[in-house]
Amino acid sequence: MSEYEETGIWKKSLGKINNHDDKYYIHYESLRNEYREFRKHANLLANEIARDLPDFTIHDSSHFDKLWKLADLIAGNDFELNPMEAFVLGGSFLIHDLGLGLAAYPEGIDQLRREPNWSDTIASILKDEIGHIPNRDKIQKADNEVILKTKEQILRNLHAKYAECLCLISWKENDHEYHLIENVELRDKYGPIIGKLAQSHWWPVSKLKESFPSKIGSFHPYPQEWEIDPLKLACLLRVADASHVDSSRAPCYLRSIRRPSQGSRDHWVFQDHLHQPLLKNDRLVFTSGSRFPNNEASSWWLCFDTLTMIDRELSQVDSLLSDSGRQRFAARGVANVNDAIRMAEQIPTENWIPIDARIKITDVPELIKKFGGEDLYGPDFTVPLRELIQNGSDAIRTRRIVEERPNDWGDICIRTGRDSEGDWIEIEDTGIGMSTEVLTGPLLDFGSSYWGSTLMINEFPGLLSKGLQCTGKFGIGFFSAFMWGDHISVTTRRYDAAQRDTQVLEFDCGLSSRPILRKATTSEILRDGGTRVRVWLKNPLKSMISRFPLERSCSACSLEDLCTWLCPSIDVNIFVENENCERRLVIRSSDWVDLDPEKFLARVWLFAEFSKKRSNKIDIINLMKNNLRTIHDQSGNIIARGCISSDMMRIFGRYLSGVVTVGGLRAADLHGLAGIFIGNTTKLSRDSAIPIADKVNMAKWATEQAKLIIDKIKNQEDQASLSLIIRKLNGDIGTLTVAYDAHGWINSQQIIEFHGSQDEIFIIDRLELMEEIKKYKLINLNSNVIAVEDGLQGILVGSLDYIWLEPHYLEEHNAEEFGKRFFAEGIGGVVLESLAKFWGITVDEILNASRYRDKNAYEIGTVDGRPLKVYPDMIIKKPEKRM
Ligand code: ADP
Repeated sequence: MSEYEETGIWKKSLGKINNHDDKYYIHYESLRNEYREFRKHANLLANEIARDLPDFTIHDSSHFDKLWKLADLIAGNDFELNPMEAFVLGGSFLIHDLGLGLAAYPEGIDQLRREPNWSDTIASILKDEIGHIPNRDKIQKADNEVILKTKEQILRNLHAKYAECLCLISWKENDHEYHLIENVELRDKYGPIIGKLAQSHWWPVSKLKESFPSKIGSFHPYPQEWEIDPLKLACLLRVADASHVDSSRAPCYLRSIRRPSQGSRDHWVFQDHLHQPLLKNDRLVFTSGSRFPNNEASSWWLCFDTLTMIDRELSQVDSLLSDSGRQRFAARGVANVNDAIRMAEQIPTENWIPIDARIKITDVPELIKKFGGEDLYGPDFTVPLRELIQNGSDAIRTRRIVEERPNDWGDICIRTGRDSEGDWIEIEDTGIGMSTEVLTGPLLDFGSSYWGSTLMINEFPGLLSKGLQCTGKFGIGFFSAFMWGDHISVTTRRYDAAQRDTQVLEFDCGLSSRPILRKATTSEILRDGGTRVRVWLKNPLKSMISRFPLERSCSACSLEDLCTWLCPSIDVNIFVENENCERRLVIRSSDWVDLDPEKFLARVWLFAEFSKKRSNKIDIINLMKNNLRTIHDQSGNIIARGCISSDMMRIFGRYLSGVVTVGGLRAADLHGLAGIFIGNTTKLSRDSAIPIADKVNMAKWATEQAKLIIDKIKNQEDQASLSLIIRKLNGDIGTLTVAYDAHGWINSQQIIEFHGSQDEIFIIDRLELMEEIKKYKLINLNSNVIAVEDGLQGILVGSLDYIWLEPHYLEEHNAEEFGKRFFAEGIGGVVLESLAKFWGITVDEILNASRYRDKNAYEIGTVDGRPLKVYPDMIIKKPEKRM
């Protein structure tokens, strides 16, 4: 006799009548036999689970049978269960986890691959690995390890839902069809409810009442009173399943064979420690015979959390049974879950005390204020504007994919107005909108983003793998809106919801009070799907705009200027509507690629009055306009449009910098380049980013820029500073001026002409020399001295250049070697390369023969007739002739 047939609950129900003379004997016996066959079939499938999910604790027939024992303990001696209820409950025990094994899917892995979220799951696993949503190509080329993880995740996520159909499907072999329940009538009549009960073990308790509203009558020829109460059975299944955490589930020997990963290992360890629970008063008491040493502390805490979860299940189920007038279970909670130290008396630790010392955040609103507001971003009016425009554009891009709309579709309107409360500003988009789950979930969950989350995968299966590219990933941007004011309303309507389903989430007093969720009034309804965030400003709009850092703009700027400056390369239409309802298109979706060159530059620099004021600077503007060139990615998309710009190119004293944009929004400034370079973010506050154009493309672009400026920039010192930028980008400098020697300014050809025949050349710092020249005028350099600008031009503001352009010298470790490589990366490298070419040797050969930063000062010429001594950066030596 199997273990489960020994339990009281079995003996009182299916096992009750064994006497052939009893008038119901035949019903009892046939149902018992059906259950035994059902169990045999289920066991075959369950034994395969370990193959697909080796990390999981045991799910085979010992688990089914243990559920009988636990149900018996939890329900208590007086619990009533008729034979048909026992059959259905036992059936749900058998199948509730079978979907965890591939064997339960008649078409195997192909069936999983057809799941709508197969590719999404690959994308989400890759996203965790690489930090951003992968493109389609990466998803299609995912390696075996990722596929294996995907299979595991899909099995885990699907198994409960799949359980619903398990009793009704069949497996074919040699023209024979197998079912879990072979008796056709039992299968047809009870298979669906067994499936639904099994599925319910993953639902929240709150869903049970509406899902199992009434009893199901007995089916002929079984006795009339064998009706079933599915709600009661669902309760028993879930608490028995949750409570099965003793050592029978995770034996130590099996752990050593399967070697589960760290996360799973903690489960194995604590379950291996636990004995079978006892019932004392109305509590389950879990105990362990052995202690948890220090190195098993994480397992102990996982055990504590698991027992807390079981306690919650038992108490919720108890309320449901009691409130619906049903018989209550004997077990209604777990002993000592409120006190870790008391729990340690039953589940002892060794030489450590379980003090619940987890990191706590007592004042969540204060934390959000700190990290979602001015403390992170600084007191800048544009921050909330940027974050809200970004959220709107993410939502629009998502909707474009879902509804297969063109790449330039979608509008964001920035509207301002005034009411009795004062000035307000709102950002309205025609994006995907938010479901109630998103509105009350990721939106309010500081630090959790919806994009790429399980909720998104469930709401929009297939979306993640269709190339969704969202800029939001940190889940904090929305909170920056509180920098503007404390009264905020978020009105939203999912793109596929009815107008009347528009919802409003309203914050009246900032983060310190709970927001309210309500239906939109008629005037608030969003006609098309999307979202509108309105903030009542704590200061008048004008004064808030004027807080925009002054050094950024040459004159007072308007909201329209700020928007164009803020999102210069955005791929949605941006409108600005004033309080008189006058609406103006300020940015056309992705217009930066073909915008008139002058308007393009004015947008980048925020020169609102550019055309009026430019008169004396017309040459520079014309030069830069004509030099704008694009860079494309492999698919031919434009990823940069700009030109070289050096320190001497200034208008009204302002340096003409460029910008890296992420998701179309300004993220970082560039030196030496003007225009727009599309990039990726690297930090939480999104104010630093790296262009996506790679080294090869940048080098090609820089070479072209060198050719464009060679005839236009006459001043040779200016040429030299431009060469520095082109060199940094690995471009070919051509005949641009690069250095200074006894003849004055020289280019790379003149380096050969004047120095090719010399055996020893002193390289000194050009900027230092220029200072000397300014001071003394009369400086004579020796003929074997070349002055070049030391170091490398910084392009990306911050220290990210080295990540982006990866100079080779970083690979060297030795200080002397490092110095030489660093020298060769800069303009010094142009001298080396010219000489190497002329001498017919390699740069490395020259570097090996040369000395970097000699400790001695050398005389390199005269100043006002007196000797001029300096420490040279490099003493280049022509290597001895090879034999
Ligand atoms: P992030 O944009 O980094 O995800 P947020 O705090 O700005 O972080 O937003 C949290 C979530 O709220 C987003 O992931 C998104 O699902 C939702 N959300 C915010 N704004 C919008 C919007 N305009 N349209 C649709 N969903 C939005």
